[in-house]
Amino acid sequence: MGFSTKDPTKVGTLNASWRTILLKTMNAEEVLEKFKSAGALLDGHFILSSGLHSPMYLQCAMALESTRSAAEFGVALAQHFADRQIETVASPAIGGLVIGYEVARQLGVRFIWTERENGRMTLRRGFRVRKGERVLVVEDVITTGGSTRETIDALTESGAEVVAAGSIIDRSGGKADVGVPRVSLATLVVAAVAPADCEACKRGDQAIKPGSRKR
Ligand SMILES: [Zn+2]
Repeated sequence: MGFSTKDPTKVGTLNASWRTILLKTMNAEEVLEKFKSAGALLDGHFILSSGLHSPMYLQCAMALESTRSAAEFGVALAQHFADRQIETVASPAIGGLVIGYEVARQLGVRFIWTERENGRMTLRRGFRVRKGERVLVVEDVITTGGSTRETIDALTESGAEVVAAGSIIDRSGGKADVGVPRVSLATLVVAAVAPADCEACKRGDQAIKPGSRKR
């Protein structure tokens, strides 16, 4: 298309049909409503990958199947960082790619990602950062903050200055500490208990392992 991402009028044109709704920051209820309508936030009785049982299951990728929702989440996150002189958005692959790209596109800055190589989060594919480059790290869901922290470490070791982090969902109940200021569009406190302590199991409800379920 040949437009410059630094030219705000062109970015505005690109998004003209969405602008009126998007200039309003989404609140947490609106975010979760989008997740629910996409089937990305399920109520029930689930076995998490940790083996713990939970009444809630989150499958963020499904909420991002909708390109419109992804763009709306991107705008809502980008608004938090509009005055932070962000030069680059970086995300941990795979979960962070879609939302990170959207945030970068809205800020008019470049987008790169980190991925694991021999278990270690690293910049590959020719991606480089400049010394002192102001980077925002974006993920889809923060649970413990581990992937974001590893991404921050990889960037910092390469010389960048990571100024903030963001995610669509925080399911740490606000507890995850990644060492830089952090923003999420919706914060959840997710109960997860050992099967022996699970009330739903005691009632005799069958627990579902979501990943194994055919849609
Ligand atoms: Zn259970």
